[in-house]
Amino acid sequence: MKGAYLPGNSTVELKEVPVPAPGHGEVLLRMKASTICGSDIRCIYHQHLGKGPEGYQGVVAGHEPSGQIVQAGPGCRRFGVGDRVIVYHISGCGVCNDCRRGYMISCTSAQYRRAYGWQRDGGMAEYLLAEEKDLIHLPAELTYADGAQVACGFGTVYEGLQKIGVCGNDAVLITGLGPVGLATGALCRKLGANKIIGIDVVKERMQLALDLKLCDEVLESGPDNVAEVRRLTGGMGVERAVDCSANDQARATAIRATRKWGRIVFLGEGGRVEFNPSPDIIHDQKTIYGSWVTSTWLMEELVERLVRWNLHPADLVTHRFSLDNVDQAYTLMASGLCGKVAVCFDEEL
Ligand SMILES: [Zn+2]
Ligand SMILES: [Zn+2]
Repeated sequence: MKGAYLPGNSTVELKEVPVPAPGHGEVLLRMKASTICGSDIRCIYHQHLGKGPEGYQGVVAGHEPSGQIVQAGPGCRRFGVGDRVIVYHISGCGVCNDCRRGYMISCTSAQYRRAYGWQRDGGMAEYLLAEEKDLIHLPAELTYADGAQVACGFGTVYEGLQKIGVCGNDAVLITGLGPVGLATGALCRKLGANKIIGIDVVKERMQLALDLKLCDEVLESGPDNVAEVRRLTGGMGVERAVDCSANDQARATAIRATRKWGRIVFLGEGGRVEFNPSPDIIHDQKTIYGSWVTSTWLMEELVERLVRWNLHPADLVTHRFSLDNVDQAYTLMASGLCGKVAVCFDEEL
């Protein structure tokens, strides 16, 4: 089969590799959709910058896989041939405290914690070997491209929104309108947020947020953003803010444009932020949360909600490529002139 590798010089290498055979508790998936994440670009594509959990070990790329089981190894207890599934993108040891909570992202086993597309083969290939314990059932109402985005983007956002709590009381500020920011808009809508304000620098992304009705107002990133957000919220600021940019200025804006007693969550990875604790958070009784990926059980809950809400993450996919054109997919994603970019197979292409 063909598999895509990222040598770290802004290119993609397609190699012919053997189709793996599932062992005990493992399944072989026919890949159907595999989306590209900002972290693939940030840590792997241009240069292998990641360390630890973000250290790329020369495996098949792609940590947002969704596919159909074509072979099940001995000992599988729940899933079998023909099942449509999403892969939780980190395989943990299964027995540490974090794994038992369903947060394999935080697995403490140096030996057994391996993320798909980082330390073990991922979804940018015709087939993927996955562990049964990492699978989430994909309901018939959702497509594989919907499922691929639950694996990382929508799941990560859903977790962050659970932490800060979003409802019809809230105006929400989203800094950064890449795929994670757009997913935030989509989920905040369904959770009832009545005013959603987005900030970005890329015109295409700002327009996409408006076209898809994921934001009510979109501001171009700049020094007056805090005043602009206050103006849009009766001078008070938003109740909730979600940073999806990892930009230091945007993070400071997210903190300062949030009103008294408000809550802010940081989802964007890397970078720094500078703020003045007393005026910016302490005196205004604000809380800043950090949130990293999500758990298997919350992913299952999100999948159920997506069906209930008739929300299709695949609506954020602006470009689809075949595996043969996977290099174009990464080039486009690196340019930022797009929504979500997917490599698709069979009926999903
Ligand atoms: Zn990701
Ligand atoms: Zn573990």
